[in-house]
Amino acid sequence: MVGARLTVRADGRGLAYADEVAGDRDRHGVLWARVTEAPGQGRPDFREMHTVRQRTAMLRRLCQVCGGPASRNAQGWLFALRRPGVEERTPGWPEGLLCSKPPVCEPCARLATRHCPHLDAPAFVRVRKPRVWGAFGGFFLPRPGGGLVAGEDDHLPYGHPQARWFLASQLVVELTRCTAVALAGTAPPPRAPGGAPDRPRAPR
Ligand SMILES: [Zn+2]
Repeated sequence: MVGARLTVRADGRGLAYADEVAGDRDRHGVLWARVTEAPGQGRPDFREMHTVRQRTAMLRRLCQVCGGPASRNAQGWLFALRRPGVEERTPGWPEGLLCSKPPVCEPCARLATRHCPHLDAPAFVRVRKPRVWGAFGGFFLPRPGGGLVAGEDDHLPYGHPQARWFLASQLVVELTRCTAVALAGTAPPPRAPGGAPDRPRAPR
């Protein structure tokens, strides 16, 4: 939900909120979607995390399920990833994968394996360097005659020249220095066969 407060900056060079405050942008100057805070309300939804919670969990390496510290060992932070489809499997998967799901702690990883339909048979990966890459969200462009028109949802790397027309809703990290791992009682890590095409990525 974007809200009616989204508008074009007074100088015509990007998006703004009519009543914008400092916290509406991150340190890269990217504008973030506003959400209504309603702690404790509603059922947990494992597909779509609350924007503020997602960003906080990603930056502070908190478990995406319980909000406690995510599991970390010498191989890195623990991420639970959707197993790649055949066309998504690349040699070295998931090295370089763009990810908007924060890490997990081990107890939640085990629970998710058993109870969460959206993490059906997840692949567990240890990531030494989850690098802040950019944001997931959507472009809004000025409509001739006034107002804004929404574009497709997309990934946007920080520093992108069109960032001023982008409304972010999820922080995206690039997973680097990855090691596929198996948690006790879960399926073994997937093998990554060669010859598959590279995963499509947003232009830099
Ligand atoms: Zn947890």
